[in-house]
Amino acid sequence: MEEKRLSGSKDPGVYDVIFVGGGAANTAALLHLLWHHGYDGKVLLLERGKPITERDFDDPHDIVSGFPFGSGQTSDCKMVVSKITGGSLCGCVGMNSFNDAAYRFVEQMSFFNNESIMNYYRSPPPVPPFLHETDFEVIRNGIIHIGTEFGQQIGKRVYNYLVSLPNLDVHCKEKVLDIDLQDKRVFTDCDRTYRGRTIVIGTGKASHDMLQALILKYKLEWSRGEAHVGTRVEVPRGVVKRHIDLYYDFKYILKLPSGDARSFCACPGGQVRRVENYGIYSLNGAAARTEGLKTDRTNFAIIVKVNLNPDADVFQYLYNWGKRINDYHQPKDGIVKVSWKTFLTRASLRALLGHSVWHSIYSWCDEFQSITPEFLDTVQMQFPEIKFATNRPTLTNTLQLVDGVYIVGETTGLTRGLWQSVISGICCVEGMVKEL
Ligand SMILES: Cc1cc2nc3c(=O)[nH]c(=O)nc-3n(C[C@H](O)[C@H](O)[C@H](O)COP(=O)(O)OP(=O)(O)OC[C@H]3O[C@@H](n4cnc5c(N)ncnc54)[C@H](O)[C@@H]3O)c2cc1C
Repeated sequence: MEEKRLSGSKDPGVYDVIFVGGGAANTAALLHLLWHHGYDGKVLLLERGKPITERDFDDPHDIVSGFPFGSGQTSDCKMVVSKITGGSLCGCVGMNSFNDAAYRFVEQMSFFNNESIMNYYRSPPPVPPFLHETDFEVIRNGIIHIGTEFGQQIGKRVYNYLVSLPNLDVHCKEKVLDIDLQDKRVFTDCDRTYRGRTIVIGTGKASHDMLQALILKYKLEWSRGEAHVGTRVEVPRGVVKRHIDLYYDFKYILKLPSGDARSFCACPGGQVRRVENYGIYSLNGAAARTEGLKTDRTNFAIIVKVNLNPDADVFQYLYNWGKRINDYHQPKDGIVKVSWKTFLTRASLRALLGHSVWHSIYSWCDEFQSITPEFLDTVQMQFPEIKFATNRPTLTNTLQLVDGVYIVGETTGLTRGLWQSVISGICCVEGMVKEL
């Protein structure tokens, strides 16, 4: 698809609204503004990654690979319909706006796919008897797992729709380097400057350095994100089948003095892949729903929240942690397999995760073993998994950063996952249209 460019591109382009970042949150915001509200002002979207139409399913995982759905290339499109699983968006925007935006999102998606996305929704099942016997706290969610491939199809339709709109310019492969929050100017790596009356920043966890620079420059209040580390594990699909049947993305939390351990991001029939963030290699999982693409394995993460020194920068902290792990062992293409027994007896690997993290993970596995006896014999511990968190400006009951500048999605540090990101985008537009 030809990208639309401003004529005389060295001249500053002037727009009514500029969206920075074409991820899940900003895509939902754009759609809500242009499709739902029928906004006819001049709009620009700047995305540093490739358009979704140029991405392959087999591209390496890249959280910054861009538009739409940001990490959608790799995101499994498991949509956890929850106000409580991570994040504090509901507290910020209020329950009514949250529910309203969720409805609008379903409406959007129903327009872009033939069957309503709600067909995929199932109500959370009750806690089964075999879990009553354990110390697990169970998070029950209604999961819509539309599948990575189907998610991409929807993403492509959304992309094709958006680029066909006469009042929207879409510039992919153009990275925003800096934003002047007062003059509402946006500077990019293509040596261009744009000016907007309104700017919406939805850069996800990427460009956190740009956000930090803005926070310092404009003396915005900020707070530290959370850091989670742990490990991805892989088991034969059959071992966790009944957990998957019950809760597609099963989340079992074990409360421990050494730090709560939780399972996270189950990927049935999927693969563990290497991920690179800021030069640090880690692992993540992808699920497959399409029969031909399925493996006979299921992977999921077991992670623990780590307590940071009050002065620590969460990104520096995680970077240092990841670097230590990488210096020890770089995962080769895709997968490093460390068997459970090797992992257990290798003091060095245990040391990499830190004693208390390891202790929590080990206790989680022990508890899981009591309900799934084949677990310990079959599990393969993968490379340590690191979850990057967002150092964010402090926002209270608003998604507005300063006058005329809004932030959405993971940039805010208020959301977790696709569902909450898109809801933040829609809520933002609802507030914004009153000012436009
Ligand atoms: C491997 C993987 C699997 C996942 N699976 C799931 C899942 O199954 N379910 C779920 O709910 N969540 C999942 N997630 C998380 C989910 O993808 C994110 O929560 C969601 O994408 C966040 O949306 P966002 O719009 O805030 O940020 P993003 O989707 O990250 O979008 C940010 C966009 O901004 C662009 N950008 C960044 N900086 C700049 C800049 N300076 N200039 C221009 N553009 C810029 C990026 O390229 C990106 O396209 C997964 C994530 C990963 C990495």
